Amino acid sequence: MSQTVFSKILRGEVPCHKVYEDDHVLAFLDINPLSRGHTLVIPKEPAVTLDQLSDDAAAALGRALPKISRAVLAATGTRAFNLLQNNGSAAHQVVMHVHFHIIPKHPDGSGLGIGWEPGSLADGANLAAAIASKLT
Ligand code: 5GP
Repeated sequence: MSQTVFSKILRGEVPCHKVYEDDHVLAFLDINPLSRGHTLVIPKEPAVTLDQLSDDAAAALGRALPKISRAVLAATGTRAFNLLQNNGSAAHQVVMHVHFHIIPKHPDGSGLGIGWEPGSLADGANLAAAIASKLT
């Protein structure tokens, strides 16, 4: 049985402020929000990272995310938001159960800050072909 805090929330062992639920998906407010309305969207399937998720759970998340995002924007009076999804501790994942952050960007600047240092694409044709060849 999974012992992450999100599994405990799914089982009702830890409380949350729920905003949405269907057969495959639960959404609730983040306990330490980056901005007002910061919402977490999780599959009920206990996958650790996105690449481990089943097609059915992924499809359910894909259906739910725009709907929940619209509700977060409407309720907070914001028009911009970031969708953040961390996979692996090296990529800042702390809770080892797949989750998406919906983080509204407010006029006061609160929301997700991004340190983005772009490089130059090298060997794009070979790299794209290598990735494409690994699709299953
Ligand atoms: P990660 O870094 O894994 O992508 O983010 C995990 C998120 O889960 C964090 O933003 C953190 O505030 C949130 N979180 C951790 N524990 C709890 C909890 O018990 N309840 C809620 N609602 N959020 C939590």
